[in-house]
Amino acid sequence: MFSKYKDRDLVRRAAEIIAKVTGGDPLRIMHVCGTHEWAITHNGLRDLLPTNVQVVAGPGCPVCVTAGGEIDALCGLSLDRGVVVTTFGDVIRVPGARSSLAEAKASGGDIRMVYSLSDAIRMAELEPGKDFVHFAIGFETTAPTTAIEIIRGPPGNFSVFSSHKLIPPAMEYLLRSGARIDGFICPGHVSTIIGARAYKDLAKYSKPMAVAGFEPLDIMLAILNIAIQRRRGTAKVYNEYARAVRDSGNEVALRVMKKAFRICDADWRGIGIIPGSGLRLREEYSSYEAAEKYGIAVESGDEMPQGCSCGDVLLGSVRAEECPLFGRECTPERPVGPCMVSIEGTCAIAFKYSDRGLRTRRP
Ligand code: SF4
Repeated sequence: MFSKYKDRDLVRRAAEIIAKVTGGDPLRIMHVCGTHEWAITHNGLRDLLPTNVQVVAGPGCPVCVTAGGEIDALCGLSLDRGVVVTTFGDVIRVPGARSSLAEAKASGGDIRMVYSLSDAIRMAELEPGKDFVHFAIGFETTAPTTAIEIIRGPPGNFSVFSSHKLIPPAMEYLLRSGARIDGFICPGHVSTIIGARAYKDLAKYSKPMAVAGFEPLDIMLAILNIAIQRRRGTAKVYNEYARAVRDSGNEVALRVMKKAFRICDADWRGIGIIPGSGLRLREEYSSYEAAEKYGIAVESGDEMPQGCSCGDVLLGSVRAEECPLFGRECTPERPVGPCMVSIEGTCAIAFKYSDRGLRTRRP
């Protein structure tokens, strides 16, 4: 069934109204979601917007913001201590500060790609003589799954290295750091869990926000709302994605997250430590927290590969195409930085729809 949210005429009409509302005044909007970046680029929405309206990608790809020191620590756990490390596909290829999990696997580490956390737990059940650590990354969208599995009680030879991160503290960090942002498109998937009200504390920064879905019209309507709010001088949270996002979010998911996790500071790759933006297992589940079980100390610091501009790309201050390595030394087949690895990475998305990416894409 054709959705009005895909209707090109409505999308163009929305872009025209955005142009009228902004009247040529600059408007710089940030989104923090890899799927939004894909939808914006895939649908060519930036080309439809007036030139005074800029939509930039922030730190919305969980693979991209996973600290290089954590990847190194997991490589070490596998190579030096014989632990089986499981994780999702994209993470394996991300360069750490010293090496990637794929390189550690090539050097003899038992590193396995899984499609779900329950697959990893099943492996641990089937091989009780081995220790398993699952590298649990992701935002509020994936954290509830980790929480549920831990509450259920996996086998004693299984633990998680929790690198889950929270989006609203990252948005607040960007606002406090003085980044030039006139408004936020809030992430659709994350918001289904945390609800539109999770952003209300950010109203003190006087920036309009709109939760958006992933169809072209969803995104255009969110931009239009931000433009209207800016003109009126308001800074509310508009829920454009009300067909999927409730004000209170998913209460069951929030409850299990609260039961399993405590909030901690987290190291965001290319950005640094963001207070209160991470999740670690609570004391009662600490036997399942690999960081404590194995005494893992993660080094933090500036660890982007040499010449890579991912830090600036993640802050929206540099476009992927502006990195000197883009499409030359750095491609999805041979990624230099994390933003070129994941399908949600800004550089990987930009490459896919660049002239070179379109030429090299398989039909
Ligand atoms: Fe980093 Fe590659 Fe993107 Fe440059 S093109 S910022 S090296 S991921």
